[in-house]
Amino acid sequence: MGRHQDPDTLQFIEWLKNKGRIMGYVSKTEYSIGGNYFIDVVWKYRENLHPVITFEIETYAGNSIFKNTAKLYGTRQAILKKTWHHFAIVFKNSLTTGQYDALHRDLDHQNISLYQTLFNDPDLKKTLEDELTKFDFTQLDSSLITSYRSNSLFYVSDIEFALHQFGEDIPYLFKSDYVEFDKAHPYNEMKKYPDYFRNRIWKIRRESDLNQEDIEALISIVKVATTITAKENLLLSNGVCPKCGKKIGQRQVYHGGTEEDPVPYAVTYIVGCEECDYELNRETIDL
Ligand SMILES: [Zn+2]
Repeated sequence: MGRHQDPDTLQFIEWLKNKGRIMGYVSKTEYSIGGNYFIDVVWKYRENLHPVITFEIETYAGNSIFKNTAKLYGTRQAILKKTWHHFAIVFKNSLTTGQYDALHRDLDHQNISLYQTLFNDPDLKKTLEDELTKFDFTQLDSSLITSYRSNSLFYVSDIEFALHQFGEDIPYLFKSDYVEFDKAHPYNEMKKYPDYFRNRIWKIRRESDLNQEDIEALISIVKVATTITAKENLLLSNGVCPKCGKKIGQRQVYHGGTEEDPVPYAVTYIVGCEECDYELNRETIDL
């Protein structure tokens, strides 16, 4: 049950979904970003990774316009990860000055693009298509560049996910790392990479665009992502939480079973830490 009814808008959403597939992404519609927030179209590099490109479409500018954009950009990175690039689209008309002012702070963010009155404007749709081609994996000038981009995204997504999962403080699995006294802790060091790649990756289209720093940055993220996975697996196989070092266990949360609704209707099984918010798996089953 989608929130869009307008047939032209739905057709446009389908177009974006297919476009993503053609460009090499896992493309999804009505994608949950938590709570009651759904993003119209997301493009992901891999099924289990955070979206890379997101689209929010409003048929007409209204008062609740782009509430997801506000959600995406108004929430701390540690709680809700930002995407590489977000497209805010008003399909059949444009924002009023008041609406634009309200969104101004978010729209000034460097990785949001706003498109208005896109419907029946082939020139503007062409502009959007041109902008999208810079995210294309299939149109790059060499397999080296395609490989650089896809590997960077793959490993940066892993690091972003780890940062999202572990939060600001140095997690347990990093605690034993040897740190030279004048160097930043590796966990804090790795926080710079998502921004580095966010600014850099789409600018690399040709082999001549690739510099020494880009190569070194990729080597560093591969190293750190691989280390995280290995340490995480080792700790988990011993039932130890990689975030805080306490025990991993399973718990159940029943839905319903309240005074108004005495019979539980579903149960969520959570495998995760008994002490902190680290979660390994969550599954809800109807009763
Ligand atoms: Zn824990």
